Amino acid sequence: MENCLFCSIANGDPDKLVWQNDTAAAFNDIHPKAPVHVLVVPKRHVEKLDDLDDAELAGQLLMAVRQAAEAAGVKGAYRVMVNNGAPAGQVVEHLHFHILGGRRFEA
Ligand code: AMP
Ligand code: ZN
Repeated sequence: MENCLFCSIANGDPDKLVWQNDTAAAFNDIHPKAPVHVLVVPKRHVEKLDDLDDAELAGQLLMAVRQAAEAAGVKGAYRVMVNNGAPAGQVVEHLHFHILGGRRFEA
């Protein structure tokens, strides 16, 4: 999709990515909320989790989250979060999984 920030990042300069494969890309959040804060996105535009109707891609994205977490150095110690829709706090309208790590989380 044109004019989508995360489409541009995911399909742009590979040096800015923490991890990628054919279908997904991971990059550092610009305003990190933990020592490690990585976003994992599909390379093709999907607006939000509710719009993810491709089960194969859904599975690939979960595997991508695991691989990106390992690449970011937080294997075995990270939190995953998705904000689905504006009322839930979704600001960027391209599906993204937040990986948060590098510190302890309570509840
Ligand atoms: P959300 O509130 O779930 O839509 O999260 C959007 C996230 O994208 C926030 O944590 C922002 O800090 C992050 N963000 C916004 N612009 C950029 C950017 N250009 N590069 C990396 N992360 C970004
Ligand atoms: Zn997009």
